[in-house]
Amino acid sequence: MINYDVIIIGGGPAGLICAKVLDGTDKRVLLLEKNEALGDKICAGGLTRKGLAILHLPDDVIEHKIYETALHAGRYKSETHAPEPFVFTISRKSLAAWQSEQIKGDNIEIRTNVRVAEIGKRKVSLGDGTEIGFQYLVGADGVHSIVRKYLEIPTKKRLIGVQYTVPVKDPDPLLELYMNSRLFHSWYVWIFPHADNLAIGSICNPNILSPKKLLSNLNTWLKGKKIDITNAKYDTWPISYDYRGYQFGNIFLAGEAAGLASGFTGEGIYQALVSGEAIAHYILDSQSVFPAMDQILRYNAIQEKILRFLINAGPFRPAIFKSLILLLNNKWIKERIKRGFS
Ligand SMILES: Cc1cc2nc3c(=O)[nH]c(=O)nc-3n(C[C@H](O)[C@H](O)[C@H](O)COP(=O)(O)OP(=O)(O)OC[C@H]3O[C@@H](n4cnc5c(N)ncnc54)[C@H](O)[C@@H]3O)c2cc1C
Repeated sequence: MINYDVIIIGGGPAGLICAKVLDGTDKRVLLLEKNEALGDKICAGGLTRKGLAILHLPDDVIEHKIYETALHAGRYKSETHAPEPFVFTISRKSLAAWQSEQIKGDNIEIRTNVRVAEIGKRKVSLGDGTEIGFQYLVGADGVHSIVRKYLEIPTKKRLIGVQYTVPVKDPDPLLELYMNSRLFHSWYVWIFPHADNLAIGSICNPNILSPKKLLSNLNTWLKGKKIDITNAKYDTWPISYDYRGYQFGNIFLAGEAAGLASGFTGEGIYQALVSGEAIAHYILDSQSVFPAMDQILRYNAIQEKILRFLINAGPFRPAIFKSLILLLNNKWIKERIKRGFS
């Protein structure tokens, strides 16, 4: 049996950044990705400034730098024109291609089209029965993580995401969010501009709105907005925010395998990057501390509190959404937000 110091399962942002940190070290690393192409993941492709700061992405990988947002609740609307871009849209395939190009050392081997079928004590088995040994195992294998299942960690807190990719020529670099309690409960519809399309989607807890109902509500909303989806591509995928730790002896969970996405916004790329980095640093030096990891746990906890507040608000939710818009339109608050962005 061939042995590696580290096996990483999953070539998403978490797995690739973990491999990047281990690049050029004395660790022999194998990254296994079940898909033929890296980055084949349904996503709105929105990266915040914090995510960009970790990656140092060059401009040609960024599709839009967003300075302007519009937040809607019924007839009410709040617009922000930030002095600096605060969200960046990327294509997941380009992000994955760029991340993998940055890995140059001989100590890292990336194999695609290879599905890990089973995990055992210090070894993984591939779909064809090959067994490969490891000293450390990193489960960066997303929401349906086989590593998480091996560790017998349940996933109870999940969202369902539904999204259309609508072809549009030169879309405006404007990010729009629409809150509508009747159709989307405590969540919202997003419109993220990309190079030649708009990502339009929504998320919800499937126990509150079934995936079927969420899609039907999104279709109703799109019809109301007269957005043509005849040539659009439709996708759906779950999101996990059921975090229960990331280190389990010599086995680690990163990104969504660890349940590190936000239960309110569905954002998960930044958390995937931070956790992938933290795990690699820990493997290199078990004394290393990674404060950004604690920050994302605090950030996710705040998001969950907001979500609980909105869910519990019941019939008052539409009034809360409208009040939020009025608050954001307050001159003093607007100025503070602007300053926060610069
Ligand atoms: C509709 C939607 C929109 C979203 N929009 C955004 C957004 O705008 N911004 C944002 O920050 N986040 C967004 N997210 C969340 C984001 O996509 C995820 O949180 C992020 O991709 C998590 O990264 P990851 O590396 O942990 O896992 P993933 O990106 O899911 O990567 C896991 C990888 O593991 C591979 N894999 C799984 N099992 C195996 C196996 N057995 N063997 C080998 N390989 C395996 C998969 O093929 C996959 O490539 C969105 C999610 C959804 C559903």
